[in-house]
Amino acid sequence: MGPGPSDIYPQVLQALSRPTIGHLDPLFIGMMDELKALLKYAFQTENDFTIAVSAPGSAGMEACFVNLIEPGDKVIVCRNGVFGDRMKENVIRCGGEAILVDDEWGKPVSVEKVQQVISDNPDAVLLAFVHAETSTGAVSDAKQLSQLAKQNGMLTIVDAVTSLGGVPLLVDEWQLDAVYSGSQKCLSCVPGLSPVTLSPLAIERIKARKTPVQSWFLDQSLVLGYWSGEGKRSYHHTAPVNSLYALHESLVILKNEGLENAWQRHKEMHILLADGLEKLGLTFVVEKESRLPQLNAVYFPEGIDDAAVRQQLLEGYNLEIGAGLGALAGKAWRIGLMGYAARKENVALCLKALETVLK
Ligand SMILES: *Cc1c(COP(=O)(O)O)cnc(C)c1O
Repeated sequence: MGPGPSDIYPQVLQALSRPTIGHLDPLFIGMMDELKALLKYAFQTENDFTIAVSAPGSAGMEACFVNLIEPGDKVIVCRNGVFGDRMKENVIRCGGEAILVDDEWGKPVSVEKVQQVISDNPDAVLLAFVHAETSTGAVSDAKQLSQLAKQNGMLTIVDAVTSLGGVPLLVDEWQLDAVYSGSQKCLSCVPGLSPVTLSPLAIERIKARKTPVQSWFLDQSLVLGYWSGEGKRSYHHTAPVNSLYALHESLVILKNEGLENAWQRHKEMHILLADGLEKLGLTFVVEKESRLPQLNAVYFPEGIDDAAVRQQLLEGYNLEIGAGLGALAGKAWRIGLMGYAARKENVALCLKALETVLK
């Protein structure tokens, strides 16, 4: 019950152990097509370019930034935790100019501030923000932020690593342009894959580049030849074959449960856990209306030995919870309810274990 990797579905672990076949095998190509369709469902998009980058969420992030940014581009970056800061770092390394919109850790991105910064920087071309900030457990209003960007002719880059499968994320309805996620959070798959979807506008922008993408591996125009092109699929890199079996299986599980049901389950388990945590005297970092059900950050009482508590949970209960990150290090715990981990028996175990250990 940490901030990821989450518990993996047993069926996903089984899928992982199937025989490895060639990545140009017709059977494998069929599975890739199914995988794309399943990812479109998870992202709620019709985007043709919907794939899994062969590396963890950070690579999906980098793929979006290196493909959409050219040197000199002005990018507005929202920062309300660890992952917004990484976005800034990406912009700078792409030769772009990062205009920061800072919010306190634990607060959602301020729509008003973003509106102001956009009107102060009419030449900015992209707006980048984290939908679900895993370092604090705050969810930001992706729909409104995207609307602001659209009104000003900007494209959006959205970090949905922790949101995908856990809270509503409607890529097409909200008109998000470049969205990346991860396999090991609410999808409860093995770490190491990063689902990415690009809108037709994002593809247009990539095609209009004046300079080549500086990363060969993450240049998505090269990757396309391998994920699509009926009958003429070509080698780009060796696919992580077994990890893709696992992702396929985890998405089948999500589809069978139904996205809305998955969101509802995360919410219900969160309410149960939050009730119990508050009864134990722990207070949430994030205000009620901006809390992510899948990431519960709570301050622990003063005088508590953070590391000792987490060690006792691990040794006595086989239960992992996350330490605080960045500004919350040594002050808060991050308790995950991601994917397969969002179950009643886990909530009960966590509350019982914390109660005993804290005493
Ligand atoms: C976990 C996470 C990432 C990074 O994903 P990795 O798979 O660890 O590379 C990026 N953004 C957010 C919001 C995350 O929670």
